[in-house]
Amino acid sequence: MIPRFAPTYSYADLLRALSESRLGHGAEDLRQRLAGLFGLKYVFLFEAARVALYALLKAYNRPGGVLMPAYNCIVVPEAVHFAGYRPEFVDIDNDSLNMTVETLSRSMSSRISVVLATHLFGIPCDVEAVKRAVQRYDALVVEDAAPALGAQFRGRLAGTFGDAAVISFHSSKVISAETGGALLTDNEELARRVESLAEASSSPHGNIRTLATGMARKTATRPWIYSAAHRGYRIIRDERMYEVVPGRTERPSAFLKPCPDLSIRLVLRQLDRLNGILGQRRRLAQIYCQELSGLPGLSLPVTPEGSSPAWIQFPIQVGDKRAFYRHMQRHGVDLTWTYRYSCAESYGLDGFPNAQMAAKRVLGLPTHPSLSEVQARYICRVAKTYRASMS
Ligand SMILES: *Cc1c(COP(=O)(O)O)cnc(C)c1O
Repeated sequence: MIPRFAPTYSYADLLRALSESRLGHGAEDLRQRLAGLFGLKYVFLFEAARVALYALLKAYNRPGGVLMPAYNCIVVPEAVHFAGYRPEFVDIDNDSLNMTVETLSRSMSSRISVVLATHLFGIPCDVEAVKRAVQRYDALVVEDAAPALGAQFRGRLAGTFGDAAVISFHSSKVISAETGGALLTDNEELARRVESLAEASSSPHGNIRTLATGMARKTATRPWIYSAAHRGYRIIRDERMYEVVPGRTERPSAFLKPCPDLSIRLVLRQLDRLNGILGQRRRLAQIYCQELSGLPGLSLPVTPEGSSPAWIQFPIQVGDKRAFYRHMQRHGVDLTWTYRYSCAESYGLDGFPNAQMAAKRVLGLPTHPSLSEVQARYICRVAKTYRASMS
């Protein structure tokens, strides 16, 4: 069975990272590497992108509204809420699956402190247009580049356009290190305040957890183990395709955690082959684009002109999510059903029909770099027989 996600690191990476993590200097090395890659002065490492966002908002200290697309990862509005701000949503456009400048402009007001320019699924949004829409107001533009390490817009890396950016190294992202995230900025004042916040937080580094989940995930994505586990799971329960998830309101204790050393080493090792990882993700996406375009009942993602996505998955929209998902599974292909919710609904807000529609229609084809082009073509063939079996 082809898994929906697979770790981008090898067993050897895990073991080498483990031995290297005792050398020290890992955090300093990674900060320098990322600062060099993005051409930004300040880099902070945390346990996750959501923590980086939380730290940034705490440091900015201008509680008010934080605008973001309603079709989004639920941890984003949660982190905003934990930091003492008010999550506010903008409906999305059903082609690009991201907020449009028109709807963003309509939601802008002086009560908005921060606007999140989200590069959902690693597909860059038009950050320049977002900045133009926001420029009359005194609001910070933060790029949520959690899934977009290496994505480019008009020849520039996503993450280099806003006042600050967050990226993620969690298991479904461009480079996975099980856990980890970074905050990037050129703003000295903000950086100084983030630094004093981060220094005040001290907690254990969690190497053991990274190692344990890393080993477990490597093992669980071996083909026969994966399909056995999957069958077992489906006997117990069916995957839900759409739901209203409640947004958490209580901040977990010790939220402001640093990045484990082992994850730092895993990221460092994989940054050496970032271009290869991105190249393979883009080749797979290109195959999906070519083979699946024009299929009735299936829409492909629309990417902004001049963008080069990082593709943490290839989001397609289908009329009947469950039927398509089951069809692919029967042929040994697992898909992601993210996101199966609208964040606006989690916060009890109506009036975001497109976000809800996306939650009911989007499935993700896998783009992990261990997937071969032959497998991507097989996935396309199977997707096409869904059409045939429907008509
Ligand atoms: C994954 C993701 C996040 C959260 O990243 P973590 O490191 O898991 O906190 C935030 N925003 C978007 C768009 C994401 O895809």
